[in-house]
Amino acid sequence: MVMKDKITNKIDGLTRGHGEVKEYIATRNACKLCTPLGACLAYKGIKGCVPLIHGSQGCATYIRRYMISHYREPVDIASSNFDEGATIFGGKQNVHQAISNIIKQYNPEVLGVTTTCLSETIGDDVKQFMSEYIRDTELENLPKFVTASTPSYQGSHADGFHEAVLGAVSSLAKHTQKGEHINIFPGMFSPADLRYLKHVLESFGQDYVLLPDYSETLDGSSWSEYKRIPEGGTPKEEIARTADALLSIQFGLVFNKAGQSTYKKGGGTSQTAATYLENEYQVPSVSLPWPIGVEANDLFFNTLTEMSGVERPAEIERERGRLIDAYADGHKYVFGKRAVIFGEEDLVLAIYRFLNEIGVDVIVIASGGKSGLLKEKIEEIAGEKELPTIMSNADFEDIATISEELKPDLMIGHSKGYYIARNLNIPLIRIGFPIHDRLGGQRIQHIGYEGTNDLFEKIVNSMIEFNQTKSEVGYKYM
Ligand code: SF4
Repeated sequence: MVMKDKITNKIDGLTRGHGEVKEYIATRNACKLCTPLGACLAYKGIKGCVPLIHGSQGCATYIRRYMISHYREPVDIASSNFDEGATIFGGKQNVHQAISNIIKQYNPEVLGVTTTCLSETIGDDVKQFMSEYIRDTELENLPKFVTASTPSYQGSHADGFHEAVLGAVSSLAKHTQKGEHINIFPGMFSPADLRYLKHVLESFGQDYVLLPDYSETLDGSSWSEYKRIPEGGTPKEEIARTADALLSIQFGLVFNKAGQSTYKKGGGTSQTAATYLENEYQVPSVSLPWPIGVEANDLFFNTLTEMSGVERPAEIERERGRLIDAYADGHKYVFGKRAVIFGEEDLVLAIYRFLNEIGVDVIVIASGGKSGLLKEKIEEIAGEKELPTIMSNADFEDIATISEELKPDLMIGHSKGYYIARNLNIPLIRIGFPIHDRLGGQRIQHIGYEGTNDLFEKIVNSMIEFNQTKSEVGYKYM
């Protein structure tokens, strides 16, 4: 009974409209994943990189399992394997041993270290450990070391992802001579999204550095022999070039602002890879929303045209035309439907903007992120429109409770919300990460006019199929 009252209080205290933020009680089923998981994902997008988790074996096992179930690829992640001694006296010996083992077995070009709740709590200084290793080792051909501070209690997988990209740039970027290229820092896009981005940049004839790029490492072809490090990823030499770019484009509006970034400038706000390059190497940067929907894609493609001086290629123009045509054909099936959306903050912001375009009423937006920016960004997109219920630092149990109360027509998010959709008997349109109960999560294209079209059709067809299944008449013509 006490618990029920607590839950009710929590729901009543949610940010509804312009209301107040909820009270705190213990999280039961967080709407986020572990921070080092995001860092490992980013490291998988660096060529020749082996991720190393500085913490217990269980953290590495959980992260490997989650990534393998989504990407359906082998994912080698090393661990410094904390034991009782390391927990009490510090994990320096463990991480040094782990590095030696990785170098002997994998011979990596880059070693990406990410910390965990435990190693952060006891205060291990990983950067110092790396310096001492380099000073003392007798091994030759050492990899480049990249570190990210990623305690899971301070952020989500999205924070870890951006911290690792920032760690890579701050360790490897090096000024030589100003180039004609641009830097592209995507959010937690799918491998299919990254392939599409590369295709678009090439169609503009634009030289670029894309970081991270796990389009092949996490969605490769079949092998006849096991490869310890899969082919693909952004080479370290390319990361070095980021310091000489004309511009950085970073996709997202929130990034790692919840994290206690180790790269804070003068104690100010957390940095991203793009803002780091701006501060250290005077590479200007722009932040764009994830390119989902007509408006966000127009913004992206106009920026590319401005940068490259090249008009939007005819192929892209046709993709745009087909998307608008699809909106005209299908919006009547979804107009006025009420949706609950959940996932990382930059993804839900993009989906909210897109759903507004097609007339779907978003009634709940939930994210496990806690940047403190979600409501502000939603207000900017909403304009005069009534605000949905906004849940930051969200818990799936709360999403379930509010969804039961508000009775949505559909949910949009990843597999972890399936049980809510199942209880409510409504469709769940699967996007983002993780997708563990369907095949092909890594090949969902969310971005571009083309990806938006796929997403739009998925939503429309889910609603049509749902109504068709419920109908007493087996109709086969809409
Ligand atoms: S202990 Fe922390 S770092 Fe390890 S799996 Fe759990 S949340 Fe992630």
